[in-house]
Amino acid sequence: MQGTIMITENIALVKKNMETACRKAGRNPDEASLIAVSKTKPIEMLREAYEAGCRDFGENKVQEIMDKYGQLPSDIRWHMIGHLQRNKVKYIVDKVFLIHSVDSYRLACEISKEAVKKGIEVNILVEVNVAEEESKFGAHREEVLELIENIAVLPGICVKGLMTIAPYVENAEENRQHFVNLRQLSVDIMSKNIDNVSMGILSMGMTGDYVVALEEGATYVRVGTGIFGDRK
Ligand SMILES: *Cc1c(COP(=O)(O)O)cnc(C)c1O
Repeated sequence: MQGTIMITENIALVKKNMETACRKAGRNPDEASLIAVSKTKPIEMLREAYEAGCRDFGENKVQEIMDKYGQLPSDIRWHMIGHLQRNKVKYIVDKVFLIHSVDSYRLACEISKEAVKKGIEVNILVEVNVAEEESKFGAHREEVLELIENIAVLPGICVKGLMTIAPYVENAEENRQHFVNLRQLSVDIMSKNIDNVSMGILSMGMTGDYVVALEEGATYVRVGTGIFGDRK
């Protein structure tokens, strides 16, 4: 079993914190959803989170999604949150609810191609490298609009919003401006009224900074450690 990690209690605490953060910011708590980031964690732990009410799970590896997908109930919404290689797109396009990590036109083309082949519509977010960190994936802020305009005309793929992985910081306040900037970018893009593009989703905030992200407009927070404990 999961030993000393109290997944059910952790989820309840995160949800309570989410509600408090939303209310503090004058937001309806229903606007924000929790993604339980279950990468590297065994099925039993995901099952406990499922029993505690989680239906959104985040994974960052194609192989891991494929392994876990068939072992858990089909009403789970799988979120691909990690860097996605083009040659692996075909394995997951029909299994995931949302791909958070599209940061290039070439990747979007591959998703479009596989979606058309399977006769499905794939929802994606464009990942933005808000802090311009060299070590991180994600499009740079100034290229995002053009990237989205190009993706918008591809068949079988639909842009639903933006995602970012903020820097690792000791004090979450240090990331507030990045979250403000991502939200502003989504407002700017929304104002362009691009066909086939909506900006309803803002995926931002992790264990260390999800409260601040919610105060600045996150609609999905992705929490791993805060639910399942440390990863090795
Ligand atoms: C691992 C991961 C998370 C969760 O990180 P925690 O700090 O454990 O909450 C969130 N988003 C992405 C993209 C990740 O890879």
